[in-house]
Amino acid sequence: MAGLIRREDVDAVRDRARIDEIVSAHVTLKSAGVGSLKGLCPFHDERSPSFHVRPGVGRWHCFGCGEGGDVISFVQKIDGLTFTEAVEYLADRVGIQLRYEESGHGGGALRPREEPGRRQRLLEAHRVAAQYFTEQLVGPGAGAARAFLAERSFDRSDAEHFGVGYAPTGWDSLQRHLQGRGFTQAELVASGLMSQGQRGIYDRFRGRLVWPIRDVTGEIVGFGARRLYDEDQGPKYLNTPETSLYKKSNVLYGIDLAKREIAKQKRVVVVEGYTDVMAAHLSGVTTAVATCGTAFGTEHARIVRRLLGDTTAGGGMQLASGTSVGGEVIFTFDGDAAGQKAAVRAFGEDQRFYAQTFVSVERSGMDPCELRMARGPDAVRALVDGRQPLFEFVIRTTLAGFDLDTAEGRVGALRAAAPIVAGIRDAALRPEYARLLAGWIGMDADRVRREVASASRRTTPGPVRTSRPDDARQGAADDAPVVPAMPAPDPRDPVARRERLALVAVLQYPQHVPPVFDTLDEDAFSVPAWRAVHAAVRAAGGAREGAVLGAGRWVEAVVEQAAEPVRGLVTELAVAPLPEDRESVVGGYVAGVVRGLVDLGLTRRIADAKSRLQRLDPSADVAAYQEAFARLLAVEAERRTLREGEIA
Ligand code: ZN
Repeated sequence: MAGLIRREDVDAVRDRARIDEIVSAHVTLKSAGVGSLKGLCPFHDERSPSFHVRPGVGRWHCFGCGEGGDVISFVQKIDGLTFTEAVEYLADRVGIQLRYEESGHGGGALRPREEPGRRQRLLEAHRVAAQYFTEQLVGPGAGAARAFLAERSFDRSDAEHFGVGYAPTGWDSLQRHLQGRGFTQAELVASGLMSQGQRGIYDRFRGRLVWPIRDVTGEIVGFGARRLYDEDQGPKYLNTPETSLYKKSNVLYGIDLAKREIAKQKRVVVVEGYTDVMAAHLSGVTTAVATCGTAFGTEHARIVRRLLGDTTAGGGMQLASGTSVGGEVIFTFDGDAAGQKAAVRAFGEDQRFYAQTFVSVERSGMDPCELRMARGPDAVRALVDGRQPLFEFVIRTTLAGFDLDTAEGRVGALRAAAPIVAGIRDAALRPEYARLLAGWIGMDADRVRREVASASRRTTPGPVRTSRPDDARQGAADDAPVVPAMPAPDPRDPVARRERLALVAVLQYPQHVPPVFDTLDEDAFSVPAWRAVHAAVRAAGGAREGAVLGAGRWVEAVVEQAAEPVRGLVTELAVAPLPEDRESVVGGYVAGVVRGLVDLGLTRRIADAKSRLQRLDPSADVAAYQEAFARLLAVEAERRTLREGEIA
């Protein structure tokens, strides 16, 4: 198990990975003044761009939804990765070899999972293979593959969109192609693209339709392949075996295409196969994914929850109306029996996810692919829209076995369903479901409540799990408690506006900030939020330190010194546009803004000193009066000096 990534390596990744380049892969950026870019926010729906990136400080911020951070947090958020995963992903891209802190001794260790560059080689082999397969699909040998697609109403452009290809029937077609591109036998075996036989290696996928399986960052890590020919003795579906790239417990087919919509719509639809993902997306259900040859498990849930932005330990929370906070996970099942089995099995396991879980069952037994063919895309969308909460589905499925028109049937149904309600671990949901159950059976609510209560006494549900051991990968960094962010002050308040502008200038152009700024004490800012940012600026060494560090490292240093709720504000200020940022005049502008702020503070202190003077009686306390008067003169002198400096 890898330890924490070394701090200096994280810094190096942050420095080397160009934020504008990384963001550009997801957002079309255009210029928003010198050193600033903007585009449509990928994290909320908007028509005019409020998502800003400032490459010089390495930060992004959306003035629409308030999200913001550095290049690592952008990758984390857009790809639903942990901190460690995001750093590893970026390190791969910029060619930095990460070292990990080993617990127990101080020395750094090389990335322990595989030798340097190996991962890149294996990813490259997959890219080459995918390209090869797609070329084969249009070739003369792929008639059966094209017919398979056409029979399911997928045309050529659909196949291209999903990267579908064809693996020829020969034993070494792909092998020769890859070896021709310089891949070694060892690499081919490690990739999972070849199988090892007694007389050497041979192509794993032969005479099959193949789908590239991508990870959340869009890299191909494996393939799923369907049998096409009757003489093929292999399984109907064959996937890449477990490799260093491909772990079936945490790959989701379609996640690369769906991730942005999942984050946006706060919903994910889990279907059962490759063609179902295709059919769903083509029908407008763009949040569809599928597991590959395995049931949906806790690792899949982890990926999905991160994309849904669900950071709470207990998952979302069910509201009385049936909607849920924290996103919806919708499972589609074809046919009652399959659905029942899957749902009932799920019900017995850990329930932390289930208040958000919904079930869509196609009663006539069609999967989304068949549904699209038979009844069109509207029917696929309707299937998803007709979802039921998992609890409701399980309870109603149980009730379906009883004749509710008879008293005996109702009593039997109550006895069968009450333990299910009693078994819901989220105690807050139980009364709601007891009430619903009464309605579904057609029975007095008190009677149902009593039955549920007595069923609770019979079954002792285990404790609700709140920790997430499967997520504890980068330690505290990923599992940090959610601290409510400090809101930005009212932008209409002119004092708050001036103070804000000064901080924007200090964060973005520390080299132009006049030295007087660093002499300001903790009371210099009047608005609490800006005072907190100023405290972080001071703790990070002031503008003088910023000028030495350079804007990128400087903002990083301030963020680090900032209290948790203030960090978002620092990023926001570091990215905010300045009214004047032309290279030739920005220096003078920044100096002016900062002096203006200092002047404002001095003016406030002069007013305070005058008011104190007025309250003092010179005849009663001569010493106090003289002292107050001297203070007034001193502050006035300070302001005069400042103003003269400005002119000079
Ligand atoms: Zn936004």
